[in-house]
Amino acid sequence: MYPFSFHHTKSIPESVSLKKELSEAKYIAGGQSLVGVLKLRLDKPSELINLGSIRELSGICIEGKTLTIGAMTRHAEVAASSDVKSCIPGVAQLAGLIADRMVRNMGTIGGSVANNDPSADYPAAVLGLNATIITNQREIQADDFFIGMFETALEPSELIQSIRFTAPIKSAYAKFKHPASRYAVVGVFVAQFPNEVRVAVTGAGASVFRHTEMEKALSKDFSTSAIEPIQISAQGLNSDFFADSQYRAHLMKSMAIQAVNNAK
Ligand SMILES: Cc1cc2nc3c(=O)[nH]c(=O)nc-3n(C[C@H](O)[C@H](O)[C@H](O)COP(=O)(O)OP(=O)(O)OC[C@H]3O[C@@H](n4cnc5c(N)ncnc54)[C@H](O)[C@@H]3O)c2cc1C
Repeated sequence: MYPFSFHHTKSIPESVSLKKELSEAKYIAGGQSLVGVLKLRLDKPSELINLGSIRELSGICIEGKTLTIGAMTRHAEVAASSDVKSCIPGVAQLAGLIADRMVRNMGTIGGSVANNDPSADYPAAVLGLNATIITNQREIQADDFFIGMFETALEPSELIQSIRFTAPIKSAYAKFKHPASRYAVVGVFVAQFPNEVRVAVTGAGASVFRHTEMEKALSKDFSTSAIEPIQISAQGLNSDFFADSQYRAHLMKSMAIQAVNNAK
């Protein structure tokens, strides 16, 4: 690691103004992505601004069909929450599939979404459910948020405060996980709303994306037989040591079928 200074902040305005003042600074949530990056010397922030003591960034709130999860809420809390399980079971299920117990106890939804790792799980739920990312300065729809590999619509000092979801009729997540890290080789989140079905895919591209052909088929008939005939193109999909693009295309359909079967 390169040396850096560590700042504990107590409020959102304090964190944001410190970040604006210190141009080489980074926010740190649970450190489950950032610490690895620092250890490998892939980044060199001069300062880290710890979000861990800002109480208003944590917690789960349900109002009718609206579920709001604070940015600093850990994956383990989301996975165990009876409120999340009853409102959007697919989100609790996805959080429980992230990594291992240690990572789930430290990693946060805000950090995962801000990081936008191409194999991360949460971006699939956020895009699949068309969630709203609430920052210190605005609200961003999921369709406008995920720009590219490790790239989002966030401006340099912008801080995610929470993510707001609207409960669908049914949803589920299915992932073919990497056996060591448990990141998604391919993960598919399916959500059925009264007037549309959304299908979001992670692990297969540079960033999470929607699969419009499966969405159209499922909007007409929310059943596995609607997607079985679809030929998924491997063009442009990730290809690496673990899975080539053809295999990822195959996984996309298999995971979508699993998610539709398990949707509740
Ligand atoms: C061994 C291992 C296995 C893993 N397996 C999986 C897996 O299976 N699936 C999966 O999805 N993930 C996996 N992860 C990643 C894990 O889910 C992390 O929780 C996630 O990447 C974010 O980490 P964090 O919340 O600790 O954020 P940090 O690492 O602290 O921060 C990540 C980035 O987000 C920024 N940031 C953090 N919070 C905010 C905020 N509120 N507003 C704006 N910017 C912010 C930081 O500046 C930094 O750039 C794994 C990690 C490890 C170490």
